[in-house]
Amino acid sequence: MDNIRRGNRQLIKELNRTFVVNTILKYEPISRTKIAELTELSLSTVSNIVASLIEKGLVQETGEDKSKGGRKPIMLELNPRIGLAIGIKIGLDGIVAALVNLKGTVLYQISRSIPPKKDKKNVIKSVVEVIRNLVKEARIDFGHVIGCGIGVSGLVDSSCGALIYSAILGWKNIQFKKLLEKEFNIPVFVDKDVNALALGERRYGAARGINNFVCITIGTGIGAGIILNGEIYHGNSGGAGELGHTIIDKNGPLCYCGKHGCLETFSSESFIIKEAKKALIKGEKTLIKNLLNNNDLDNLSVSTIIEAAYKGDTIAKNIFEQAGKNLGIGISNFINIVDPEMILMEGRGMEAGKFILRPMQKAIKENSLLKKDIKIFSSRLGKKGWVIGAAELVLKEIFKAPIFKSKKKDKIRSTVAQWV
Ligand SMILES: [Zn+2]
Repeated sequence: MDNIRRGNRQLIKELNRTFVVNTILKYEPISRTKIAELTELSLSTVSNIVASLIEKGLVQETGEDKSKGGRKPIMLELNPRIGLAIGIKIGLDGIVAALVNLKGTVLYQISRSIPPKKDKKNVIKSVVEVIRNLVKEARIDFGHVIGCGIGVSGLVDSSCGALIYSAILGWKNIQFKKLLEKEFNIPVFVDKDVNALALGERRYGAARGINNFVCITIGTGIGAGIILNGEIYHGNSGGAGELGHTIIDKNGPLCYCGKHGCLETFSSESFIIKEAKKALIKGEKTLIKNLLNNNDLDNLSVSTIIEAAYKGDTIAKNIFEQAGKNLGIGISNFINIVDPEMILMEGRGMEAGKFILRPMQKAIKENSLLKKDIKIFSSRLGKKGWVIGAAELVLKEIFKAPIFKSKKKDKIRSTVAQWV
């Protein structure tokens, strides 16, 4: 019985410390009084925990709160130098890896192309090389790395940290977590790239503090990261958020997923390029032709079509209008099902700006039953959001309450136990 009581006391102590750390992480800079108020712990308990966190170097005092009159409380924040997370984004554009501190600041970043052969040995080999080079080039002691988060395009089983399948990359069954943890002996977390991006935006970006929102990316494909009640919604098998493959016209063109009329076939980059090529082949008068080098249709890119639109080209503007309208129809369906507070947009498709956003917003207004005036924002973190979000996969696990941690995560607990 005594052992159980001792065990419970220890657990309560550990939980209280985790609540305090999480509250600082979420609201920093924050005073001791405010922490006590938010956690409903007594001020003396909070002060004791904070004193031990300061002694261990995890928390630091940042000065006085200038906003209030009277006696000014000392503000606290996490010490961003205590540990670094590696955030990696893997997609058609390549492998981008960054060292990110506890404040979500990218300290160093490198990238390389993805392996030319669709060979899983090469995939892991490339990621291992990228991690080694990143740490070496940044001149960081590997001991300061608290974990690695990977955001990858495709269907991911985040519980075992494996990529199940990626139609865009052409890969199947890549055990990132298992193989990289063996190689580096640090905790590794894997999720769909857009889920990681959504997490990053929630902690540091445009969706800070928002509990229900959807982050939509428009690029080679169209994906959605869904945050419900502050957590990523993965669905039953990790497949939630396949917005690009919702069917908007059963008789539409064949999609690479094998179905007909997916939203992607009506609004992704390939749709935009296909429509521009059609206009060029028909011989329509468009600036795209003048901007295209040697009339080389195979090298036609979305950025050329964007450039033409900004120069006033009607054909280019009409293509984005159509893509935006289709996108708005697809997003309306999504809004009706998920009822988010906010929609965040990211990806190369967004470089077309108003040409795609205005018709999209109009279509949402016309077709959505709920939230006709829903908040639609661009990602605040920009391209860096992908790696910051991947690093956040590590940070969110590390600061989780111990009671929610499984035995499998003992390695993380031991990492954190050094500080908390
Ligand atoms: Zn499809």
